[in-house]
Amino acid sequence: IKNTNVPNLAGSINNTEEDEEDVVDLAANSLLNKLIRQSLVESSHLVEVLQKDPSSPLYSVKTFEELRLKEELLKGIYAMGFNRPSKIQEMALPMMLAHPPQNLIAQSQSGTGKTAAFVLAMLSRVNALELFPQCLCLAPTYELALQTGRVVERMGKFCVDVQVMYAIRGNRISRGSDITKQIIIGTPGTVLDWCFKRKLIDLTKIRVFVLDEADVMIDTQGFSDQSIRIQRALPSECQMLLFSATFEDSVWQFAERIIPDPNVIKLRKEELTLNNIRQYYVLCGDRKDKYQALCNIYGGITIGQAIIFCQTRRNAKWLTVEMMQDGHQVSLLSGELTVDQRASIIQRFRDGKEKVLITTNVCARGIDVKQVTVVVNFDLPVNQSGEPDYETYLHRIGRTGRFGKKGLAFNMIEVDKLPLLMKIQDHFNSNIKQLDPEDMDEIE
Ligand code: ADP
Repeated sequence: IKNTNVPNLAGSINNTEEDEEDVVDLAANSLLNKLIRQSLVESSHLVEVLQKDPSSPLYSVKTFEELRLKEELLKGIYAMGFNRPSKIQEMALPMMLAHPPQNLIAQSQSGTGKTAAFVLAMLSRVNALELFPQCLCLAPTYELALQTGRVVERMGKFCVDVQVMYAIRGNRISRGSDITKQIIIGTPGTVLDWCFKRKLIDLTKIRVFVLDEADVMIDTQGFSDQSIRIQRALPSECQMLLFSATFEDSVWQFAERIIPDPNVIKLRKEELTLNNIRQYYVLCGDRKDKYQALCNIYGGITIGQAIIFCQTRRNAKWLTVEMMQDGHQVSLLSGELTVDQRASIIQRFRDGKEKVLITTNVCARGIDVKQVTVVVNFDLPVNQSGEPDYETYLHRIGRTGRFGKKGLAFNMIEVDKLPLLMKIQDHFNSNIKQLDPEDMDEIE
């Protein structure tokens, strides 16, 4: 597969307001997850399958050979180092490759093999000798489209005549020229434009339609409607596939509108628990006081790697400078960085190049650094109405029961925030012990 027409659209993502809390940018987080991914994410749950026709037999595969793929495609899969289908692929691939094609809605957390599955489906249905768009994949951003395109290129390495094209803003094609590439990956707005206004893509010839990252998609103004307009123009025999990492009601409603007669596959996420975390709090005055307490903790116990969470960028920056001046190796991860910069900071931290990662609220959400044993809430997570943000608290310090090593969590609390901490304690029905920072022997 040749890589063609990739415009260079450098983009940084956030504003630089100092006091601002970083806002959750779903697309950026999703991209970050992809950039730092090293392997498949395991799940101990069973795959749930809901067939559109419950009486038809349910196939699952344990090997890629069973799928009877084109040889060049199988070669591509093995070249990527895949030995056997992932849990979700075991169920999804036979459905996706069935004749006649079946529609599918699949939900599982990021890293479980969804992208690889639909790329395989696209590549197996494409006819390399026909020089027009046959597979269409919608993605929420340019960067995410590009990531998917890279997977197509890697898996399709031996499918020599298959080509990918990106329908994204800034990718210009000259007037009057036809698109000869078989696989189009793009954002809804530009795809819509290419289909209806510029008539570059004939939707009636599309065989596989993929809507990736549906949860991120519906979070972006206009994308749901644009996607639906595109879908409405597809032929009825076109295979329609939708993927999402999460499955709130809103995603589900959208999925049902856009995918007719679907099979549904779900893989539940490992649940986070605080059971194997020892939680402490230290009462402090101002942030200098908090920092002192942090130093005492540091002096008192042996710490492998730690993540420290601050509520604002300003606090995070301040703390970074303080710690650096005291000779600690720390790095700062905050929302004003581009996703590439964030990915490289996380990678360095994973490689143990820095011992401490300081971050604002949302950046490190969902990022799993397994060797971290200590988490510090330099500021408690609170929501806009000043109430404790339980979910964020759980995400910061919780572990999955299955992979959970024992962990330590320290909360630095101003006296007036103590009621918030007590609410957190009650909410999780767990014990958060007060710690005298002068006396680390209390840490069990
Ligand atoms: P998702 O789309 O659900 O986030 P991906 O398809 O991107 O998941 O897969 C996550 C990671 O696992 C990627 O690095 C991918 O190359 C790898 N992967 C996917 N399927 C397999 C497989 N069957 N065997 C080994 N690795 C796989």
